[in-house]
Amino acid sequence: MHEMALVQNIIDIVLQEMDKYEVEKLQAINLAVGRMSAAVPEQLQMCFEILTTDHKLTGTKLNIRMVPVTYKCWECEKEFTSAGITFTCPFCESPNPEIIFGRELKIESIEVVD
Ligand SMILES: [Zn+2]
Repeated sequence: MHEMALVQNIIDIVLQEMDKYEVEKLQAINLAVGRMSAAVPEQLQMCFEILTTDHKLTGTKLNIRMVPVTYKCWECEKEFTSAGITFTCPFCESPNPEIIFGRELKIESIEVVD
């Protein structure tokens, strides 16, 4: 299950940030997950719960925002989003627009407990 490694990676980054800002507890971690990232939100949630049992992050919420796939067409230089996989630019119909966002999984923000 590759989600385990993904989530561990997220936790490591978050813990580093917490250290840097001397934060003890977090309210939530906000993730942006591209639709092409192959990460399943339910799996991410489950891994997060397992990995944060008896942990500094126990009780922290993992918020996952699914981000549509964003393409850029190199012919007409327009950007567009798609819920799935597209092989044609909707503006100029040139083939093979390039995915510029949608494969990533990134931490958008972390919320500190007041
Ligand atoms: Zn185009």
